[in-house]
Amino acid sequence: MARALVIGAGGAARVAAHALAKMEEFDDIRIASRTLEKCLKIQADVGGKVSAVSQLDANDKDAVVREITAADADVVVHLALPYQNLSIMEACLETGVPYLDTANYEAPDLLTFSYSWQWDYHDAFEKAGVTALLGCGFDPGVTSVFVAWAAKHLFGGKPKLVDIVDCNGGDHGLPFATNFNLEINLREVTLPGWYYEDGRWIKTPPFARKSFMRLPGVGRAPMYLLNHEEMESLVKNFPSIERIRFWMSFSDEYLTHLRVLQNCGLTSIEPVTVNLDGRAVEIVPLQFLAALMPEPASLGDGYTGKVCIGNVMTGEDGQAHFVYCVKDHQACVTATGTHAVPFTTGVPAAIGAKLLVTGQWSLPGTRNVEEFDPDPFMEDLKVCGLPWEHRELGKPHFDWEEELDLLPR
Ligand code: NDP
Repeated sequence: MARALVIGAGGAARVAAHALAKMEEFDDIRIASRTLEKCLKIQADVGGKVSAVSQLDANDKDAVVREITAADADVVVHLALPYQNLSIMEACLETGVPYLDTANYEAPDLLTFSYSWQWDYHDAFEKAGVTALLGCGFDPGVTSVFVAWAAKHLFGGKPKLVDIVDCNGGDHGLPFATNFNLEINLREVTLPGWYYEDGRWIKTPPFARKSFMRLPGVGRAPMYLLNHEEMESLVKNFPSIERIRFWMSFSDEYLTHLRVLQNCGLTSIEPVTVNLDGRAVEIVPLQFLAALMPEPASLGDGYTGKVCIGNVMTGEDGQAHFVYCVKDHQACVTATGTHAVPFTTGVPAAIGAKLLVTGQWSLPGTRNVEEFDPDPFMEDLKVCGLPWEHRELGKPHFDWEEELDLLPR
């Protein structure tokens, strides 16, 4: 029986707590986050196995060490924000406890992201005999495992072309809201698009490349090329990849709001000084905007429709395959109190935690999910509410101009 320490008390943490509580491998879950009331709310909803909650500033490495020690944790499931990755990793190193996250490190004052900061800890984790499992949500996470699974079972170890498609065909009924942490979401989507082809990274202006796709569960959707972190690790771990791209759906409504917010300077991370009744107060516009918007985990009641996330992948024989998962928002609300985006993040995190504590995934160092055997993870997805499908598309991989039809025949 194992003990999990979940850090964070937002949407993904709520779902992970529910999923961990259902697993027979765990008999004790502790939740620690910035706002105690939110931990208490999750404890009340999940019940039984959540034995304790506490207030924690996860930027404070020593406080995280104390929390891990008090919890006597066998694994740390980090579902707070990417800003805390390094302090929590250092605490895991110091205590010798496996670490897991779902998003790569970001420095609060820099608009960029990369695994390189976390990979710098590889030797230290390897020497300490501790595994740090990086990027174990859906994307990154399941999408990376899909590549490892296809490499193992379809492509003789050599995937060549990969397109990751993440489409939210749902409607939360609000003019503008983000489905996961607003700060992290807007930092990501306002960056230039990136993709990898023939040994080099190619940059495009944000939202410059668009393609329509027809996807199971959601129908026809406009998909935009985006920079996404799993491309960085997949290219490193599968040198056979010749091209990898990432596509995400955005509604016209979302894009219009985003453009206005950007034009007003509200997505900026540069502090501005505001004069409040003669008092100079420094605020970061993006943080101010986040405070005005609904919390992602609160989107739930009335959230209709489905998400479809998956990979179109091709090996050396040139025939395309599609591996994907469709999830209904309301089914997730019924199961966990929040919608499909936190669900598809928190469930894979719980599966990763289980594979770490059972030793099925154990390889000291900083490791991305695709470095492990995909089979037990793929099995657990089905058991834990994320059933996936695999289809041979019967045609070559799609190129830039084609409207991609991925609907079942
Ligand atoms: P939320 O904003 O809903 O939750 C974040 C939580 O972290 C909040 O409870 C927040 O506290 C807490 N927190 C923030 N700062 C600190 C701190 N210094 N110390 C302790 N706790 C802190 O985010 P989500 O649940 O939507 O996302 C969680 C993570 O999952 C993010 O890193 C996100 O990028 C990642 N993600 C990954 C996906 C994937 O598929 N791989 C998809 C979606 C998200 P408070 O309640 O006080 O604000």
